[in-house]
Amino acid sequence: MIVGIDLGTTNSAIACFRDGAPQLIPNALGDLLTPSAVSLGKDGSLLVGLAARDRQSTHPDLTATAFKRHMGTRKRYTLGRRAYGAEDLSALVLASLKADAERFTGETVTGAVITVPAYFNDQQRKATRRAGELAGLKVERLVNEPTAAALAYGIHERGDREPFLVFDLGGGTFDVSIVEVFDGVVEVRASAGDNRLGGEDFNDMVAKLARAAIDPEGTLVARGKESLFHEVLRAAAERTRRALSEAEDALFEIVWEGKAYSHRITAAEFEAAADPLIQRLRDPVLRSMRDSNIAVGGLSEVVLVGGATRMPVVRRAVTRMFGRFPNHSLHPDHAVALGAAVQAGLKARDAALEEIRLTDVCPFTLGVDTAMRDPTGRLVFGVFAPIIERNTVVPASRVHRFQTLAENQKQVEFNIYQGEARAVADNVHLGQAVVPVPPRPAGEVVVDVRFSYDASGLLEIDVSVPLSGLQRQWVISSGDGGDSPEEVAARRAALAELKIHPRDQASNAATLARAERCYENFIGERRQHIAEMILTFEAVLARQEPHSIDDMRAQVEAALDQIEGERFL
Ligand code: ADP
Ligand code: MG
Repeated sequence: MIVGIDLGTTNSAIACFRDGAPQLIPNALGDLLTPSAVSLGKDGSLLVGLAARDRQSTHPDLTATAFKRHMGTRKRYTLGRRAYGAEDLSALVLASLKADAERFTGETVTGAVITVPAYFNDQQRKATRRAGELAGLKVERLVNEPTAAALAYGIHERGDREPFLVFDLGGGTFDVSIVEVFDGVVEVRASAGDNRLGGEDFNDMVAKLARAAIDPEGTLVARGKESLFHEVLRAAAERTRRALSEAEDALFEIVWEGKAYSHRITAAEFEAAADPLIQRLRDPVLRSMRDSNIAVGGLSEVVLVGGATRMPVVRRAVTRMFGRFPNHSLHPDHAVALGAAVQAGLKARDAALEEIRLTDVCPFTLGVDTAMRDPTGRLVFGVFAPIIERNTVVPASRVHRFQTLAENQKQVEFNIYQGEARAVADNVHLGQAVVPVPPRPAGEVVVDVRFSYDASGLLEIDVSVPLSGLQRQWVISSGDGGDSPEEVAARRAALAELKIHPRDQASNAATLARAERCYENFIGERRQHIAEMILTFEAVLARQEPHSIDDMRAQVEAALDQIEGERFL
């Protein structure tokens, strides 16, 4: 059996594909969500899930939570005498989910589709894969969380070009993504977010409200006990807040050093205090719409994902932002795992889903370092020149042209980076490409740098020097070496097809040629109109974005049909 797993910051879930539909699998306690928490128990054994989460307020030093935030980093969590990385802790959660699924279904789990945030970089994705392998799972594929959520909502059963906006507010992170089907392929068009905003921030806010009422003088807590008290407040705030999702008011209750304290909070009070957090939801929404070039009216669905979207105040804010009610027909904290199972079903070649292929977007920008002249003519080094921009649909291939900077320069050196910072030093260095060039005056030699990148993290760098005819290739693979040579060869062959510049692709070249011919055949206003269209089409071709090119080509063809038709009237 291949399962789908949502490995969340706060909660994880596992699902399988049965009888044509995805189904969540309950854990040993009968719960569909398993807290992503690990704690060292009294007898030295490691507890995972709810038992671990519950120990957070009693044994914060022996308990690790939210470790997904540090996936792919060197951060260590010390539980008792041993230290664990985020990867090890995630593996424990995955192993526990796997055991639950095997117990519940009586089948062996042979493989898993695991979801990751769309913005996870190579290191974070690799670490997630390794966590799966440590847990004894064959990781069939990593799927972006919003893609999974959109699959759970049946995006693949809709027509082309029906963009879904996935609004995911979890325990500690907020992600907005726009997912669309194009030519039968599910794509993430844009993702934006705030990785410091989630249900926990609402808890902190409730804890602060309640603390002001319970302990106005600030005398309740002895020095050194502050962090324990904070955990107690946090746990109580979580209960209060969940109650407020259903009721007009709720009691905030704690027991501290044998004494009970309580404070009643109304929904109105809660919502007023939540306003600054609610305001922070706007920006990422706007950014994702801008990046994807889609207007609110063009969205087919707005779907709610993440447990924190159960809060009525969040739902109202979403309704206001989009001027319509969001879709939450699935439980928001189940959607990602259900979608992962849809993808697992596809992997297992379930007939119901055979048509879907998935692509993703490049979650970060890939580029090289360059030097630029400032207005005074001085050279500034270490400036990032993006080649494949973040949110580009992959597989993608883009080429940029550079010029020599120095007199009789003998070679050109490109350092390759991933990241968003203008200064390359703040981005992740991936490698280096050096090519010899014929010595000429500065600026006379041009060098073309082509980046081709696919969903598995394979990056091919082709550098060519037209003047000398030199061509060199480098390959940077973030794959974990687990792929067979045949698989790698197949992926490289697929990339090779993309390397023809859109200008030279047959269909685009034909449209351009037709437009040029029409230009010669007409005069006056129509000729002017054709000239403008050619210029626009060429500009779109230069941007090398397949979707915009397809749209523009269709427009040009339609316009030419009309113009040519007119002639025979
Ligand atoms: P993640 O994706 O971060 O792992 P989830 O999607 O499971 O997390 O969301 C966890 C968050 O959802 C927590 O902050 C929790 O408080 C919140 N949550 C879950 N149920 C409710 C509810 N009924 N009302 C308010 N918040 C809720
Ligand atoms: Mg989540």
